[in-house]
Amino acid sequence: MSEADPRPIDSSRPPWSLRRRVAAITLALLALVLLVVLAIALALGNVVTKGNDTVYRWGPAVTRSEAVLADLTNQQTGLRDYLLTGRTELLQPYTESLTTQQADVARLRQLLRGSPGLLRRLDTFTTAADTWHRETADPLIAAVRGTGPPPTGLDSAADEARFAAARQAGTDLAGAVTEASADARAARKNAIVLLSVLLAATAVLVLAAILAIWRGLHRWVLGPVERLGRQSRQVAAGARTRRIVPDGPPEFAELGSDVEQMRRQIADELALVQAAQAELVRSNADLEQFAYVASHDLSEPLRKVANFCQLLERQYADELDDQAKQYIGFAVDGAKRMQALISDLLALSRVGRTTDSFVDVDTGAVLDQVLAGLDDQIRMSGAGVGRSDLPTVEGDPDLLAALFENLVGNALKYHGDEPPLIVVTARPLRDEGVWQFAVADNGIGIEAQYAERIFTIFQRLHVRGAYEGTGIGLALCRKIVEFHGGRIWLDTDGAGQGATFRFTLSERRTVSAP
Ligand code: ADP
Repeated sequence: MSEADPRPIDSSRPPWSLRRRVAAITLALLALVLLVVLAIALALGNVVTKGNDTVYRWGPAVTRSEAVLADLTNQQTGLRDYLLTGRTELLQPYTESLTTQQADVARLRQLLRGSPGLLRRLDTFTTAADTWHRETADPLIAAVRGTGPPPTGLDSAADEARFAAARQAGTDLAGAVTEASADARAARKNAIVLLSVLLAATAVLVLAAILAIWRGLHRWVLGPVERLGRQSRQVAAGARTRRIVPDGPPEFAELGSDVEQMRRQIADELALVQAAQAELVRSNADLEQFAYVASHDLSEPLRKVANFCQLLERQYADELDDQAKQYIGFAVDGAKRMQALISDLLALSRVGRTTDSFVDVDTGAVLDQVLAGLDDQIRMSGAGVGRSDLPTVEGDPDLLAALFENLVGNALKYHGDEPPLIVVTARPLRDEGVWQFAVADNGIGIEAQYAERIFTIFQRLHVRGAYEGTGIGLALCRKIVEFHGGRIWLDTDGAGQGATFRFTLSERRTVSAP
């Protein structure tokens, strides 16, 4: 079955749940094991019984049946010798054989218990033997001893017939017992064969069960899990429109449906986010473009207003009274502030246009250049500037210069009663190639509650007259740092006076062009 077209669910009958399948298989296996164990136990018991029968019953039975026949012959021989000689001691073999025969018959009767046919044959023999004893042997012995009528002789036809009948019964008995013994041996052999067949069948069954379990596991568990995993990985790798097809037993089919539902939700939400992001990028670009054009186009008329106001003040100084001069001063001041605002806005709108200008920048050299530019302010305020070794990072040199200029400029601007003391440092972070910079001063400081607000455009903490500024500087710093893939924040942990700004920059570029 191809991966694009996984096994469809048969909707004509509700498929069994995996739990039910496992329970059914377990039960079937248990029943099978029980059956097999029972059958093997029975067959084994049969082999043992048959073996015992052969060894302890039929072996001795054959011996005893043959002994019984031999006893009879011995009696006849003993009797004959006694009759011929009339010597009492020669009757001993007869009497001994008779005793032995009785013992053999008694034992044989025990051994043949449960075989009515053979017992009948034994009875036939004992009856025939008794008849011979009673009607032939005993009268002859009595005659020889003189306690009975004279012997008619052993060779009489009637005596012969009685003995022959007894011998024949004995021979039949021995033959039948031997045959029964052979049957028992054959039955034992058959029982062994049956046990071997059962063991072989069990081995085949176990093998078949293992194969069936493996197949079931593959078809019901491994296969569906593998397919679900493969499909999920494809979605995770980016193919978000790839449908996940539910597959396998109900549990996995349900899991597949849940994952598919999740995929759909994520895909829908992602489409919304992407649309919103595209819209945001577009409107941001529009805004930046607007800010750039507006500030660019506004600077020219503004310059004119300021220039002409100053011209007016210079050329008509004699004709203007003090109030007029003051009004002109306000107008010039307003125009200048607006120029500063526009220039800062322009700088802000320029950040983040492209990373094409990214090069290796020696931040130490950049700081030198910034400090040279601020030389007048530094000298006038009597400021001291300290620094550690500063690293080379990848970035836009002009933007990084603007970053340092704003931070050092603020440190100079927001000084307290003491002359400003500014320290610029950098230390490597655990993330390889990332540096954390710090610009610390001993000025008026910033309360922790304003730590976020100061980075928002036009947000100032002082009235206009107290400190000059447009409220754009730190917003510009944040935009520059974030454009370089870093982060800037006010350090609120530092004890003591002054403010410390920290920001991170990388040796290698971590941003892509917007
Ligand atoms: P501004 O043009 O007013 O300096 P910024 O965005 O640079 O605008 O700063 C925002 C506000 O943060 C400032 O108005 C000032 O109150 C405060 N600020 C910035 N830097 C410092 C500093 N080094 N010490 C104390 N206050 C500062």
